[in-house]
Amino acid sequence: MNLWDATLNSKSVERAPLRATEEVDVAIIGAGFTGLWSAFHLLSNKPDLKIAIIEKERVGFGASGRNGGWVSALYPSEMGADLVTPHLVQSIAEIGVFASKYAPDANFRMGGSLSIARNKGQLKRLKNNIGSATFLNQSETLSKVQLNGALGSLFTPDCATIHPGRFVRALANHVEQLGARIYEKSPALRTTDHKVTTPSGALIATTVISATEAFAKGSRERIPLYSLMVATEPINEKLWNQIGLSNGESFAEASHLVTYGQRTKDNRLAVGGRGAPYLFGSLMRSAAENNSRVHDQIIAMVRAWFPPLANTQFTHRWGGAVSVTRDWQPFANYDQTKGQAKAGGYVGDGLTLSYLAAKALADLILEKDTELTKLPFVNHAPPLWEPEPLRWVAINSVVKLTDFADREEAATNQPSLLAKALSRVTGN
Ligand SMILES: Cc1cc2nc3c(=O)[nH]c(=O)nc-3n(C[C@H](O)[C@H](O)[C@H](O)COP(=O)(O)OP(=O)(O)OC[C@H]3O[C@@H](n4cnc5c(N)ncnc54)[C@H](O)[C@@H]3O)c2cc1C
Repeated sequence: MNLWDATLNSKSVERAPLRATEEVDVAIIGAGFTGLWSAFHLLSNKPDLKIAIIEKERVGFGASGRNGGWVSALYPSEMGADLVTPHLVQSIAEIGVFASKYAPDANFRMGGSLSIARNKGQLKRLKNNIGSATFLNQSETLSKVQLNGALGSLFTPDCATIHPGRFVRALANHVEQLGARIYEKSPALRTTDHKVTTPSGALIATTVISATEAFAKGSRERIPLYSLMVATEPINEKLWNQIGLSNGESFAEASHLVTYGQRTKDNRLAVGGRGAPYLFGSLMRSAAENNSRVHDQIIAMVRAWFPPLANTQFTHRWGGAVSVTRDWQPFANYDQTKGQAKAGGYVGDGLTLSYLAAKALADLILEKDTELTKLPFVNHAPPLWEPEPLRWVAINSVVKLTDFADREEAATNQPSLLAKALSRVTGN
């Protein structure tokens, strides 16, 4: 079960489905961070806008309610990152202000983030990519986190952690207070230029924003890639003294196959990783979120990182899909003539990016020419993914080869050549 759903402070508000035909200025499909931040930015600019959000399940059902809780300045692609990163840093601060005013129980904590090398190949790679981060040697790293085998790390202060389940619900409550209406159990069945039809109603809108991320169906624009997580029982202070993370740092091993962890406010470790297979035809299945092989691998990895946790129970296992475009670039696009807008393709970096993309989208829709509307992901059309079965073969090969690249680094003590070759193929 999802840790965040299991540790909500109060019962989730249940909202009624859409049961009529309504005319609105903006119809939003999807009540995750993209849809909700879009409503937030639009209403913050123009409070009299009539906005309705339809969600096929419930608020936060998608990745927004299941993620690792890193509010980071990470950008999925190197291309354009220099232009976007300062805005991501600014966005983290703005999300922090929102959290302190409207989501105090979502545990927003600006603890920074550590990317930790456990072999010499990873260490060389970190040293070659210091950028604006600070390099910490072995003893400096171990003073922050006693991760077994740590040789050094990069530390950046530009990362906060949150309880995403509480945050997304607080955001939904807030946009309702600003005047938006949210309908749950209301899947969009058909979308034409200015009309969205659900099983028991419809929205007629000047603008329709599609904020369905990995659930976007029938398109080769992006694919769902599963990321799985586990969480421990609350860990006692004696064990935490043997682990560290006392400032709430988020952390990851500097492997090619993505990992991410946070110490939660209630003193658990919540850790995630990729490696689950891509499903043919971009299918999404709950079985893929509960892949016990991958969950067991993540647990084994956490125990290898932190030997004192040998007898600690892992009480929660879950997963969700991130959405990946062919060039690993996100997008925030608006077609004024059709009245259609969409944002997504954030890979695993959507917590801050969804805030920024939604803000850019609001500027576009309100016809404001701003710094944000010039960012590289704005009105970006990613190339299409290959058709099946090529896509299935290629993506699953890359997932497997990425794992091999990590083994290569551990074995050779050099940055992986395979990973370098793969990055040319994937564009990542
Ligand atoms: C396990 C995991 C860990 C992650 N960790 C991090 C992290 O630590 N930091 C970070 O920055 N990012 C992380 N991410 C990515 C991040 O969570 C997402 O990028 C972000 O939440 C995307 O928000 P969204 O609103 O675009 O999509 P979603 O949250 O997926 O929302 C889309 C919504 O649309 C709804 N929907 C779909 N189709 C329809 C339809 N036809 N009609 C109506 N509604 C529909 C869905 O039910 C869903 O609620 C992680 C993701 C996963 C899965």
